Amino acid sequence: MSIDISKLLQGNRRALAKAITLTESKLDQHRDQAQALLEQVLPHTGNSIRVGITGIPGVGKSTFIESFGLHLIKQGHKVAVLAVDPSSPITGGSILGDKTRMEVLSQQENAFIRPSPSGGALGGVAQKTREAMLLCEAAGYDVILVETVGVGQSEYEVAGMVDFFLVLMLPNAGDELQGIKKGILELADAIAVNKADGSNRQLAQQTQRHYQNALGILQHNNFWKPEVVLCSALEGGNIDTIWQMIEDYKTKSCEIGFFEGNRAAQNKQWMWRLVHELIDRRLKQDADSRQLCDQMQTKVTQGETTPYVAAHRIVESL
Ligand code: GDP
Repeated sequence: MSIDISKLLQGNRRALAKAITLTESKLDQHRDQAQALLEQVLPHTGNSIRVGITGIPGVGKSTFIESFGLHLIKQGHKVAVLAVDPSSPITGGSILGDKTRMEVLSQQENAFIRPSPSGGALGGVAQKTREAMLLCEAAGYDVILVETVGVGQSEYEVAGMVDFFLVLMLPNAGDELQGIKKGILELADAIAVNKADGSNRQLAQQTQRHYQNALGILQHNNFWKPEVVLCSALEGGNIDTIWQMIEDYKTKSCEIGFFEGNRAAQNKQWMWRLVHELIDRRLKQDADSRQLCDQMQTKVTQGETTPYVAAHRIVESL
């Protein structure tokens, strides 16, 4: 597969789409080619704000992204929308990032929407999304929106690859955490109570207070207090406020060096995650290693050796 790097760097969408397809290929030859491409474009990456957006199905993620994306494009930004959906089937479409869900946005010259890749490879869906993010940056997209559904582990994966993590909630104060796990609040840089329009407004305000109280006890980091805002993705209410808040966050976090430091830490963490995964794979692929692992497991379960000694034997055999 040949990729025209200069076209990619000029922002050609076809070249970008092709480059992402290359990173998603399961062929070894393509993966090598993709990694070489990524190394080449690396100096052109990073010049963006990466925003993670999560929330349960029906909260209004795609409506929000459509409205938010259009607002950003009007301001002169180039917006890429990527999706992380670990539940997407190995073949076929995805429930997230689907073009038909963001019809107006997808028709914009300065928007690029990519559905969730299927998992399987080293690092899974998150790895491919990270690679797609870099390619979008190289192609000049300066706002990267990473959408994920608020179920499973995917919020943690996404929070670990973005600069700002936005959690969308429904105006439903009574319904404690709306099926969203408590830990998610700790990841949130902001909560937006969506659908704060029409007869929902009052309930939305109650919900806002509820989460303000819940977040009040969470110490986030020393320069940012997570905000709880109301918005209406459908009517465009507060969409501009949310963008201002994100820009404000970027300014503050850049000033104190957190922005770059956090990205560096994310990369480091991800590298180690891949190292662990690679070691695990090697052990499973190699017949001798598998046999040794089985032996060690048996010895440990029968109390013949300690987990410490067994772990050392296994790692030394690599
Ligand atoms: P997703 O599953 O999180 O992507 O949610 P969707 O964006 O598909 O929205 C689910 C439903 O909620 C749709 O019928 C939307 O029209 C509606 N919706 C989304 N945002 C708003 C909003 O701000 N106000 C109101 N009243 N409805 C909304």
